[in-house]
Amino acid sequence: MRFPFDKATPILDRLNENGFEAYVVGGAVRDYLLGRPIHDIDITTSAHPDEVVTLFQRTIPVGLQHGTVAVLLNGRSFEVTTFRSENGYDDFRHPNQVTFETSLDKDLMRRDFTINALAMDRTGKVIDLFGGQDDMKLKHLRTVGIAEERITEDPLRMMRGIRFVSELGFSLGEDEREAFSKKSVLLKKISVERIDQEMNKLLAGATVSDALRLLFNTGCSRALPLLDKTVAREELFSVRFDLLKSEGERWAAFLRTLGMTDISTFSSAWKWPVSRKKSVGLLLKYEGNYKLLNWDKFSVYSSGPELAHSVERLEAALGKTSVEGLERKERLIDRLWQDCPIRSRSELPVSGHNLIRWSGKEPGPWLSAAIEQLEKEVVTGKVPNEQEGIKRWFMAWQEKQKNQF
Ligand code: ATP
Ligand code: MG
Repeated sequence: MRFPFDKATPILDRLNENGFEAYVVGGAVRDYLLGRPIHDIDITTSAHPDEVVTLFQRTIPVGLQHGTVAVLLNGRSFEVTTFRSENGYDDFRHPNQVTFETSLDKDLMRRDFTINALAMDRTGKVIDLFGGQDDMKLKHLRTVGIAEERITEDPLRMMRGIRFVSELGFSLGEDEREAFSKKSVLLKKISVERIDQEMNKLLAGATVSDALRLLFNTGCSRALPLLDKTVAREELFSVRFDLLKSEGERWAAFLRTLGMTDISTFSSAWKWPVSRKKSVGLLLKYEGNYKLLNWDKFSVYSSGPELAHSVERLEAALGKTSVEGLERKERLIDRLWQDCPIRSRSELPVSGHNLIRWSGKEPGPWLSAAIEQLEKEVVTGKVPNEQEGIKRWFMAWQEKQKNQF
C-alpha cells in the first residue's frame, strides 16, 4: 500500500533518517482504511520529546509530560507523541504515570479500541496487533484487552465507544456491552466537558438512534448530568437526526423528545457555551409554539431565514411534518425572504434621529416602538422603503398614538 498521508511524509522521513521509528497512528489510520475524511494526523515515534524538538524547526511543547510535541509544517500542526504506556488511573482522568517505551507494541496496547490501535509506517504497511482490520470488516467495536478493565481504567472510553457506534455504524461487542452495563456509573467520574464533547459528536453521527439505544439500555445515560431519572421513550429512537444540520438542532431534538424543557438548568449542568444555550432555547421556544406559527414575510424577517429553516428541520426530524412538507416549507421561507424589501433595520433609509427630529419630542420608549412598527410596515410592503413615504407614515402614526391616549 502506498503511504497516503502525504502531508506527514517529511516528518516521518526526518525521524526515520535519524534512526527513530515513526508511524501514523489512531484515528487517521482508522478513517483512511474506512474511506472516511481524515481530520488530524497523529504520529507516534520512538524519539523522546527533546529529540523531536531538536529535529524540527517549529515545534510547540503541547504536553511534554505525556510525551507530546506539536510539529508545525506548511501551516499544519501534527502531534508527535513518544511511544508510551500508562499505569493506574486513580482519578479516572489522568494516568498516574506515563512511561516512555521503546516499542510500538506497548503504545498500541494502551489505546482504547482495536480499530484505533492501528499504525502505518512510511511504506504504507499497516501494523495491526489486535485484529482491528478484521473488526472493521465485521463492523465490530471491541476494546483492546479486557473490556471491563479498560473502561474501569478510563470510563470516558464508554462514551467514546458509543460515539463511534454512532459515527461509524459499528456494533458494540457483547463483552463490551456487558462491561458498559456493569460499569456505567463510573461515567460520573468524568468531567462534564469531556462528556459533552463526546455527546455532541454522538448526536452528529450517521446512526444516532442505535447509539442512543445503547446509551440508554446500558444505563450509561443515567450517569450523565440531569439524565439520571430520564427514561427514553421510543420517540427518541425514531428522531430523524439525519435531517438536522446544526449542533443546536440536534440537541433541541434530543431534549425535546426527553421532555426536558428547562434549558437554563440543563445548559448550566452541562457547562454549555452561551451560544448553544441560546440557539437551543430559541429553537425549543419556536417548536413549542409551532402550531401558531405561520410563516409570512415579517416572521421570516424577525427570525432570520436560518432559524426559520432550523425550526422546520426540527419539526420534520420529530416526525411532525413529512420530508415533502419540509421541502415545501423551505421553499416558502426562501421565497418570503427573497421578497422582503429589507433584510435588517440598517437598510431603512431613516434612523432614530430622523424620527426624533420629525416628532419634535425627546427620545423615549415611543422611539423603539415606532421603529419596530416601521420595520413591520416596510417589510409587509405597506410603507415604501424611502424617506418621504416613511415620513408621511410616521406623522400619521404619531397622530394616531396621540389620539389613543
Ligand atoms: P476523532 O475522529 O474524534 O479524532 P480519534 O480516535 O482520533 O477520533 P483522538 O482523541 O484524536 O480520537 O485520539 C487519537 C487516538 O488516541 C485514538 O485513535 C486512540 O488510539 C487514542 N485514544 C484517544 N483517547 C483515548 C482514551 N480515552 N483511551 C485510550 N486511547 C485513546
Ligand atoms: Mg483524532
